[in-house]
Amino acid sequence: MKFILALDQGTTSSRAILFNHDGGIVAVAQKEFKQIFPKPGWVEHDAQEIWATQAGVASEVLHKARAKAEDVAAIGITNQRETAVVWDRKTGKPICNAIVWQDRRTAPVCDKLRARKLDKLIQRKTGLVIDAYFSATKVQWILQNVKGAKARAAKGELAFGTIDSWLLWNLTGGEVHATDVSNASRTMLYDIRKGDWDDELLKLFGIPRSMLPEVKDSSGIFGETTLLGGSIPVAGIAGDQQAALFGQVCTQPGMVKNTYGTGCFMLMNTGTKPIASKNKLLTTVAWRINGKTEYALEGSVFIAGAAIQWLRDGLGIIKKSPDVEPLAASVPDTGGVYLVPAFAGLGAPHWDAYARGTLVGMTRGTTAAHIARAALEGIALQVMDILKAMEADAGIKLKELGVDGGACVNNLLMQMQCDLLGVPTLRPKINETTALGAAFLAGLAVRFWNNQAQIAKQWQVDKKFKPAMKAAARTKITSGWNRALSRAKAWEES
Ligand code: ADP
Repeated sequence: MKFILALDQGTTSSRAILFNHDGGIVAVAQKEFKQIFPKPGWVEHDAQEIWATQAGVASEVLHKARAKAEDVAAIGITNQRETAVVWDRKTGKPICNAIVWQDRRTAPVCDKLRARKLDKLIQRKTGLVIDAYFSATKVQWILQNVKGAKARAAKGELAFGTIDSWLLWNLTGGEVHATDVSNASRTMLYDIRKGDWDDELLKLFGIPRSMLPEVKDSSGIFGETTLLGGSIPVAGIAGDQQAALFGQVCTQPGMVKNTYGTGCFMLMNTGTKPIASKNKLLTTVAWRINGKTEYALEGSVFIAGAAIQWLRDGLGIIKKSPDVEPLAASVPDTGGVYLVPAFAGLGAPHWDAYARGTLVGMTRGTTAAHIARAALEGIALQVMDILKAMEADAGIKLKELGVDGGACVNNLLMQMQCDLLGVPTLRPKINETTALGAAFLAGLAVRFWNNQAQIAKQWQVDKKFKPAMKAAARTKITSGWNRALSRAKAWEES
């Protein structure tokens, strides 16, 4: 068999990518779907549309490559994490729209949990900080607000799943209700050390155990689908960031990848040990393979590529995102200008919801080029702060950084990043690391690839950035950044 089919179910689109034996991309199909905003702060998806678009692109990608089901050794799924779907086990129909990870409707519930001082307990069990982001309060909301849901759930008539479970259920015609451990670890219902749903948390959120999917290895046979014209095993599942970590072959403790998209997601493999963060990072399951669980520390930057969109749409100093690079490169430095893009507060390790975007250090000589350069530097500096927190938590010093995501094509940004971190930054040839990670997990399970060493050999570097900045210059920039951060913090009056 020639291919592995990766289903990459993202927040705005469903994609399908066919990979060959060398880990190369053979064909891609993609379809966007509707974003539903019923009220300010609410974000929903139609789970049926998610399934329809995902099934559609899966067929389309085979068609594009003139491939048949017999050519596909296995399917791997990777997905937007935390988004909650509740459906009727009999009809297979969702009882309401999926509540998306971005949805803030349950923030007040989370405030109450924090006021009850439950944060320690929840962090110890799940590795997470209490936040509306995770699935638990979304499922609770559905049970409390959809008519009859609570009673039906109590009778065992309803099923809950993150998007991977929902796709798996549909792929297998309702035969299999399962998830993988990386997705389970984002629900705030799963004890990441014991490796089981936690009864105390289920009780706290009023969620019956009967609703929950079975939790399986990230690489292994989940079930079979016959929907693509022949039988294909679904053999790998991981949440998008964990899949990207695997796709970057960050499979040894201390290896780190950072994804530069709208925001940034940084994950560090910490091996078989879950490390409780002292710096407000998340402890999460990376994957479980052959029964062995590996963990990661995770930190995110809210505004990264979005700062470049702001230069484009808010300031109008560039026409399209890639224009930022030549503009910023037209000056040798920022001329002392700092942009702290705390447009939505600051995430890890600062966690200041009242911080706001701050542009400081301007003089009469400041130009759009300096601001553009400060925007790129502001992304790299935020990433540096997270990495320092990770190194402190893990007691591991970074050796190199793997990068991916839409903004990692920016060579100037990557050079700044590696200069600030003082370690090489590696951009892989295949930027589709999320889908590739899902393909790797599936391919390992069916022996399309024999072992992780064989996969590691396939990872190819597109460009390696080497640190070229003197330590004194780095210290100067970071101390200016810290002063700029202090101006941005606690700005909005509560
Ligand atoms: P997401 O998956 O979060 O939608 P992508 O990985 O597609 O994001 O990356 C898109 C982001 O990358 C946008 O915010 C865009 O402004 C930014 N971006 C794209 N190209 C560049 C570039 N050349 N330099 C800097 N940022 C860029």
